[in-house]
Amino acid sequence: MRTLTRPRDPVMLPPDAIPKRADRDPPPPSRKHLSFDPLIRTVFERAQLLRDTRDGDYSIADAVMSAIAMFSLKDPSLLAFQGRRNDHNMKNLYRIGQVPSDTQMRTILDPISPASLRPMFNDVFRQLQRGGVLKPYIFHEDCYLLSIDGTQYFSSKNVHCDSCLQKKNKKTGEITYSHQMLGAVLVHPDCKQVIPLAPEPIVKQDGDCKNDCERNASKRLLTQIREEHPNLKLIVVEDGLASNAPHIQLLKRLRLHFILGAKPDDHEHLFDQAIQAAEEGRDTTITWTDPKNPDVLCEIRFVENLALNKTYPNLRVNFLQYIEYGPDGHERKKFSWVTDLPITEDNAQHLVRGGRARWKVENETFNTMKNQGYNFEHNYGHGKINLSVVLAMLMMLTFLLDQTQELCCPLFQAVHKKYTSRRSVWDHLRSHFRHFKFESMQRLYEVMLNDLAKELPPPTFASRRFESNPEFHQRI
Ligand SMILES: [Zn+2]
Repeated sequence: MRTLTRPRDPVMLPPDAIPKRADRDPPPPSRKHLSFDPLIRTVFERAQLLRDTRDGDYSIADAVMSAIAMFSLKDPSLLAFQGRRNDHNMKNLYRIGQVPSDTQMRTILDPISPASLRPMFNDVFRQLQRGGVLKPYIFHEDCYLLSIDGTQYFSSKNVHCDSCLQKKNKKTGEITYSHQMLGAVLVHPDCKQVIPLAPEPIVKQDGDCKNDCERNASKRLLTQIREEHPNLKLIVVEDGLASNAPHIQLLKRLRLHFILGAKPDDHEHLFDQAIQAAEEGRDTTITWTDPKNPDVLCEIRFVENLALNKTYPNLRVNFLQYIEYGPDGHERKKFSWVTDLPITEDNAQHLVRGGRARWKVENETFNTMKNQGYNFEHNYGHGKINLSVVLAMLMMLTFLLDQTQELCCPLFQAVHKKYTSRRSVWDHLRSHFRHFKFESMQRLYEVMLNDLAKELPPPTFASRRFESNPEFHQRI
């Protein structure tokens, strides 16, 4: 395979040619209906609609809201959460009539269809749309960036269910069971928060190998997103696994734009065409020096209307490449994409930023859920049918509620600022939740923000007073 050479006849762009989104749009205004209490009411109303065919003491809504409360409070296990069964705040803050026991929770949640939880995500998303909160996320010509990627959140050699993925060790024959999930989040390079849409579980289907599972999950996910949001203008950003012809054809059928990673090993013909175009002067090259490090030269190359590969010569894509050269002239970073969006000298830098924002599904979503208090990889219970998937989806829903508050609720933002880290916020939240009684999460946040807990009666005394005196309860 031939390799690209150093820049040739570059178009020079000033480093600040593309203004950052933050320079162009004011931050979103406060929207009361996007704070915790109205959001949890929305989720609760949807949970009440879940079909319940059982006869039991606890409703499905109780079990679903209990799981959300457990993830919202960042309890590390179902057992830890069970210590809250008699906490009055469960009713006021999470609308739980009665918290089921851990065994009952698992039994009620196991048969729930993961797809039946999707409307909860859509309800929150519509609230965000109605509130105009998504406007700063518009990235390019009225389109949002939708970053999609898969992640594994469970692995075991012993615990497994009907939908576990299976991998057999060729030497020992030992089977490893796992669960993966395809996440889809709205991102913007200048926005810290991400907006998760309902994820799609990657589960075993008869006769499928792992790659088929991921490909099928992606087909289900994108089709559902288009059904649920028929008019949403989206640019899908994905890694190199997605830049294959059947997937691109699916994206086109669903009216989804795309910026997909492309690797030379997978796309030899495509890269050869790009090199030939460069040699014949048919490509465009833009270079500039990194304003933070003048020794680093940045370069974008692009060429339009290339065949994706030899098998699909009529499937035409535009090729976009970003390279960084170190002081010694050697390449130190290199990313390539294929896209259906027209590339110009004016928008090439912008599109590169869009392609690179794909990382936000890994860094700002999965890594946050794995490492910042959400315990995404903990086993809260596996079940026999869907429990593992249902719990993972409800954790993602809780993450959406938290991201929405971070984005839209000034009170929540002030609490975060005061306690600096997410972990510290969750620690103080749990402590307040355990020791005092509140009529709303808003009141709990106000107490956290203003250190009002010090002025409240001692915990044991307080709980007695709360039990017997509803008026006192009103004050908190
Ligand atoms: Zn399983």
